Amino acid sequence: MSVILDQDIKFLAGVGPKRADLLAKELAIKTFKDLLFHFPYKYADRSRICPIREIKDGESHIQLKGKITGMEIFGVRQKQRLVATLEDDTGTVELIWFKSVKWMSQSLKEGIEYMVFGKPVFFKSRINIPHPEVEEMARISKVSYPYIFQASYPLTEKLKNGFITSRTLHKLQYNLLQKVYGQIEETMPGYILRNLGLPDLNTCLLNIHYPSDEELLKKARYRIKFEELFYIQLKLLRLREGRKVKHKGCLFSEIGDRFNRFYHDHLPFNLTDAQKRVIKEIRKDVGSGKQMNRLLQGDVGSGKTLVALLTILMAIDNGFQTCIMAPTEILAQQHFATFKQMLGNLPIKIGILTGSSKKAAREELHSLLQNGEMKILIGTHALIEDIVIFNNLGLVIIDEQHRFGVAQRAKLWKKNPLQPPHILVMTATPIPRTLAMTVYGDLDVSVIDELPPGRKPVKTAHYYDSKRLQLFKFMKDQVAAGRQVYVVYPLIKESEKMDYKDLEDGYASISRAFPTPQYAVSVLHGRMKAEEKNKAMALFVNGTTQIMVSTTVIEVGVDVPNASVMIIESTERFGLSQLHQLRGRVGRGAEQSYCLLMSGVKLTKDARTRIETMVRTTDGFDIAEVDMRLRGPGDLEGTQQSGIPFDLKLANLVKDQKILEHARNVASDILDDDPLLDKKEHAILSKELSRINNHNHNWSEIS
Ligand code: ADP
Ligand code: MG
Repeated sequence: MSVILDQDIKFLAGVGPKRADLLAKELAIKTFKDLLFHFPYKYADRSRICPIREIKDGESHIQLKGKITGMEIFGVRQKQRLVATLEDDTGTVELIWFKSVKWMSQSLKEGIEYMVFGKPVFFKSRINIPHPEVEEMARISKVSYPYIFQASYPLTEKLKNGFITSRTLHKLQYNLLQKVYGQIEETMPGYILRNLGLPDLNTCLLNIHYPSDEELLKKARYRIKFEELFYIQLKLLRLREGRKVKHKGCLFSEIGDRFNRFYHDHLPFNLTDAQKRVIKEIRKDVGSGKQMNRLLQGDVGSGKTLVALLTILMAIDNGFQTCIMAPTEILAQQHFATFKQMLGNLPIKIGILTGSSKKAAREELHSLLQNGEMKILIGTHALIEDIVIFNNLGLVIIDEQHRFGVAQRAKLWKKNPLQPPHILVMTATPIPRTLAMTVYGDLDVSVIDELPPGRKPVKTAHYYDSKRLQLFKFMKDQVAAGRQVYVVYPLIKESEKMDYKDLEDGYASISRAFPTPQYAVSVLHGRMKAEEKNKAMALFVNGTTQIMVSTTVIEVGVDVPNASVMIIESTERFGLSQLHQLRGRVGRGAEQSYCLLMSGVKLTKDARTRIETMVRTTDGFDIAEVDMRLRGPGDLEGTQQSGIPFDLKLANLVKDQKILEHARNVASDILDDDPLLDKKEHAILSKELSRINNHNHNWSEIS
């Protein structure tokens, strides 16, 4: 961008060193450009003057014109307030000040016409306007910053205390635009702007700060949002294409003996159509000679594990080693057991490596990996460590990706120094489309959008804690019918102030209600040693215990088809994706399953929405959308670690899905036509991309 915009903000008329300091500290505004790209979050129409009689309840900021006909100060000292009566041809309102009472009472004059701007408040059928902006009409015509829409800018308390208000910023923008308007270098190709009917950057920035009408403002905002999302998509799509060109992938040219034997002799059920389709997509990738980077999205219980196993067999048949990384020890153990059982007598060496693996076992494992004998390594993040060296790693599967960061993904890449292994990332919970397109926008996406046949949707209900006796009765009936029950608590130790039933209390009361020898109860939490955990889990898996009292360690992935009841305690404390995951632990067998959400009576609005959503739907994509609306994209579990590697100023991944799709399509068309961005009209794109790259280090981690 133009040099002029790189100038230090302190050189702008109206700023100076002190204000420059504040702006830098509070808003990270250091240059002209930073200021220009500090956008208003709302606008008030100041072309309209509202007759006092027409003021309506619930109205946001309005503008009035009238004379002050009386002033009075009530109260004493700290409790003082100034009430001024404003009158126009249609009626009167009261303007009220609780602060700066003396100053205001001295500066306001009766009988003079004022322009008043503020938010009306209705109180006992009277209208007040607390702390309005007031300006003498006589002065208004003289001010040199004409506008129709008054912009409001994001501010901080410290700025306000330092007398930098929204109006100050608006004036500064005016000074700045006077200086730089017409010299701001364009950042989008002209033909695209013309095709889309969007304004050039100079016009756009002018209209963002000083819109002359609503239509222009709309277009200006659209352009900024579009551009933000467009460059992200262009970057991600280029990365994706570039990788395909740059890296020769491990070639799995044949479908061999092991795959076929497993498929024909060991497969316990028919694959769903969705599983078949995904296997085909993967097959195409790994047979192409290019590296696969694929995201496998599938709702809880849709059968991703089997897809993983089939992909693993393709790799092994072609002489490669594979690994699968899971977020918890329990899940790794479970995969290990499932794989061993499914593979039966097929001659495939399979190992497990977790934080609790013993030294001798590790050492043996390391050498089997290095000499290539070990074909499948299952583990937790322990398998990322440098000491874990493969002979010929061809495929990495990352299960329940949301627990792992991008950096970890990259580390696994490097485990094959000759050619990067294929990567298959499997998500725990569905991610909203917009988020998938941004956070995982550099990956190809496969979706399993179908559950195995015969599943009955889990029945979900919400109960207050007072229904506990009925709950125990229900649990007894289910156990009597041969089912198993999970009871999940959010915490191990009771937190000081809040009255949550924690795991220990719960375990005690459940043990009382379900006494031995008639019943057997397991308990599982994060503080137990790995061995104890495995034992507790094993007892539940083989049906020795009927009830599993647990914290969320069982949240991810655990698969016990005979368990048909999930009871969640203190539901209000769980996030939506967590609840969805937990519910996904039941409904895996042929029996009708239940998810019972227990809570106290006091619920926040968000907690209520979460619970209502769980009761309303079992569709993970639907739930993910609600989750994103409640928490914002940055806080979603899917993005916490991997992070959204850019900050968006105007675009919003929740609200601007259409613009995002538009931007991705435009970016994709451009790359189809000109993959290396060699064309003259695309020079501007390469330039912007490298500027963004230099500016934002997180980007580099994505690959
Ligand atoms: P997730 O996608 O949540 O990881 P899993 O892979 O654990 O789900 O599969 C859930 C359950 O569904 C497992 O018990 C698995 O054996 C079973 N399953 C997977 N595919 C099929 C299928 N095609 N038909 C029937 N059951 C299946
Ligand atoms: Mg799974």
